[in-house]
Amino acid sequence: MASFRTKSPEETERLAEELGQKLSRGNVIFLFGDLGAGKTTFVKGLARGLGVPKDYYVQSPTFAIINEYPGRVPLYHVDLYRLEPEDVYDLGLEELAEQGVLVIEWSERLPFFFDKAIKVYFEIIGPSERLITIEDKK
Ligand code: ADP
Ligand code: MG
Repeated sequence: MASFRTKSPEETERLAEELGQKLSRGNVIFLFGDLGAGKTTFVKGLARGLGVPKDYYVQSPTFAIINEYPGRVPLYHVDLYRLEPEDVYDLGLEELAEQGVLVIEWSERLPFFFDKAIKVYFEIIGPSERLITIEDKK
């Protein structure tokens, strides 16, 4: 487990980019934290680290449900905020995790478990300061 204080969205992206460089097919990442805490910003950095071209616009998939970005391996980005448990079953998340890297916002709403997920916690410290704790798979 490691904690980092970031002082700007760019710093959060850079931190995530470093993690993204180490990821490979089959990795699942859970993001925990309030609205505006920096989860989607973190996914932007993950995408960079996974080699997703810079012209891909990474944004919250709240309405699209799943966004897919082409990197070294595909990055699947899900936000479960507005979904009911029965809808989540229909997404085929296990299959996506086998095909690439799966990152989940609001994973509290998952009606089942993934073992070995990397958990990342976001706390708002100030207007542009975040405490980000990365708890690796175990
Ligand atoms: P979430 O997905 O958790 O709702 P977003 O990443 O969409 O959060 O939004 C985070 C907001 O906080 C953005 O407007 C971003 O500019 C701002 N922000 C300010 N400081 C930081 C920081 N250190 N890290 C990440 N985001 C920050
Ligand atoms: Mg978000």
